[in-house]
Amino acid sequence: MFDFEKGPIKLILGGKYPHCHTVFVDDQKSALIDAASKEDTLRALDQRNPVKILLVSHGHEDHIMYNYLFPQAAFWVPEADAHVFLSINNLLGCYSPTDEERAQWKHLLLEQCHYEVRKADRLLKDGDMLEFGRTRCLVIHTPGHTPGHCAFHFPEEKVLFLADMDLVKGGPYYGDVASSIEQTLDSLLRLAAIDVEVYLTSHGRGIHDGDPDQIHRFAAHIQKRENALLEFLAQGPKTLEEVTQKGIIYGPPRVVAGWDLSISERSMMSKHLKRLEKQCRVTLEAGRYEFLE
Ligand SMILES: [Zn+2]
Repeated sequence: MFDFEKGPIKLILGGKYPHCHTVFVDDQKSALIDAASKEDTLRALDQRNPVKILLVSHGHEDHIMYNYLFPQAAFWVPEADAHVFLSINNLLGCYSPTDEERAQWKHLLLEQCHYEVRKADRLLKDGDMLEFGRTRCLVIHTPGHTPGHCAFHFPEEKVLFLADMDLVKGGPYYGDVASSIEQTLDSLLRLAAIDVEVYLTSHGRGIHDGDPDQIHRFAAHIQKRENALLEFLAQGPKTLEEVTQKGIIYGPPRVVAGWDLSISERSMMSKHLKRLEKQCRVTLEAGRYEFLE
């Protein structure tokens, strides 16, 4: 039933987007974090020990698929992402899609991710100590991926759930309108400083040794992307579209399970370009980004 167990902390691997892995806290007040893994397993868990608390690590569509199975559970969400659960337009607003993209997104959110409006029963903040019976969990607010993104630290079990700071080979995502490269870097540094035995993540392998070098390697993708971008611009001035088509992050434009990766590529590259402009390493002249020696 579980792919990982350490005391009351269990993980159910959930497969690819728009699924994610689910953390189950098997205690008096049983809890799920990110119920988007396996429907059958989640239903069986609920029958054995009804789920009392349903948490989400942040307001993204690939962490909510089976929330509707637990209408009786208290719903706890990170404060800065709570608006995403109050209106589908708020979630769409995270990505600022064109009208055409908007229709595709809506379809994905409703049909595949089972998006539903749900008011939070508790807003999670940095430093909150959550109690599920004997199990305690510290909320670590780690913005960057989204403004509200949270990690969950189980100090007694020495387990840290990194959620979408997910250690995948491709590196971190910061493509939402409100995502931030600087905050992602700061959050990763903060997580790397927490001493645990195991990292759990929402995507990819899901279960990792608690070796902070893995977090540092994951963070290093950000600098590698920026270096590749500077190299590309050194060949001559480029428009944002040309930079997007180059596919430095996700490779050639493609769609994965309804998610058009070129939208994320454009948004993330645009954040890198703004950062480089601020550092006076790049300038925008007549719609083209130019590398300044
Ligand atoms: Zn996410």
